Amino acid sequence: MPGTELFGAEERKEVNDVLETGILFRYNHENQRNNIWKARDFEAEVRKVTGAEYAHAVSSGSTAVACALAAAGVGAGDEVIIPPFTYVASNEAVLFCGALPVFAEIDETLCLSAEGIRKAITPKTKAVLLVHMCGQMARMDEIMKVVQEHNLILVEDAGQAFGASFQGKAVGLFGKTGCYSFDFFKIATCGEGGVMVTQDKQCYLYADSYSDHGHDHIGGNRGMESHPILGFNYRIGEINAAIGLAQTRRVPMIVKKNNEHKLYLTKALSAFPGISFAALPDPAGDSGTFLNMFFEDTAMAGKVVKQFNADGVTGFNYWYTNMYHFINQWDHLKGLKTAAKLPIHLLGAPQDYQKMSLAKSQEVVGRLVSFGIRVTWTKDELDSLVAKITKSVKAVQIA
Ligand SMILES: *Cc1c(COP(=O)(O)O)cnc(C)c1O
Repeated sequence: MPGTELFGAEERKEVNDVLETGILFRYNHENQRNNIWKARDFEAEVRKVTGAEYAHAVSSGSTAVACALAAAGVGAGDEVIIPPFTYVASNEAVLFCGALPVFAEIDETLCLSAEGIRKAITPKTKAVLLVHMCGQMARMDEIMKVVQEHNLILVEDAGQAFGASFQGKAVGLFGKTGCYSFDFFKIATCGEGGVMVTQDKQCYLYADSYSDHGHDHIGGNRGMESHPILGFNYRIGEINAAIGLAQTRRVPMIVKKNNEHKLYLTKALSAFPGISFAALPDPAGDSGTFLNMFFEDTAMAGKVVKQFNADGVTGFNYWYTNMYHFINQWDHLKGLKTAAKLPIHLLGAPQDYQKMSLAKSQEVVGRLVSFGIRVTWTKDELDSLVAKITKSVKAVQIA
């Protein structure tokens, strides 16, 4: 949570600009706002960091996924290939836009593999919602090949990978649309916020209107604006955007620092038998937010986690048993338990969610333990973490 660690004077200054005018709304009110436009500035900063042609800030990463799907033309009845390892918001966004999730296998990159996508394609497949997990990136060269071969729409949920890239291009920009989360746990935070990005002007215009009841945001009289499409309220407020702006400015420095920490830890730990790391398709493009360690198998990882807990080692995630990040715990999704009927209830699920087998994903996530990398770590803290990890792992190996 590097952004959260660094909250300070810069964030307070940006928030204060908004408090001075009291214009908390991102649109209109030209005469009262003293030229303070934090949502616009936040979007400009995200364009600067990513190289995106268009960026549109909204209320959360989840609503950014919803905007990305809608703007890309993904909707009711469309089969969308998704991974079983992601924050559950990706899957909710697919279900709530009326589409039908089809789960495919991930690989050692922690993301959907080209092979996994290929095997999940049916005549009804419309899109792939690719998730770049744990700060890293998918194998974009291979994935773009499958997507283009089968004429699929690619939407990227880079919720956890703002600042990451593949061969010099930011993740989120490979698909028709993409998005980032700025919730409290991400590399940079708005408190709550998200940003949808695209290189396609029409997709941007759809997202802009979709996130604000269809408003086209042309002219100074909000009540008299045209509404090219129906939408809903996914707007970000100026205070959240102000924090996002200050935080996004820090991201290039955070990425640099975190990668130094990750490299240091990786070097020290790779000398240790029994520890390996998630595959990084482009090491130079890592956002460096997680040290993603693999153990021999699920049983071994489980024992190490138990030992970490016994030894008081903190700061790691064991996603395999996490309620929100891995399909094994998603009983509500597999049972399609919702407050009210969705299109999938009428159309039927394209897969038997209770019985499908995702052996590769089970194996990969079962072996994975991820430590969140802190930007403020000192060398002593890094050394102490290496000592703690190796001590616990050794204890398990000897037993
Ligand atoms: C965090 C996250 C989201 C949701 O973002 P919020 O801002 O919490 O709504 C979506 N997708 C992924 C992959 C995430 O990690």
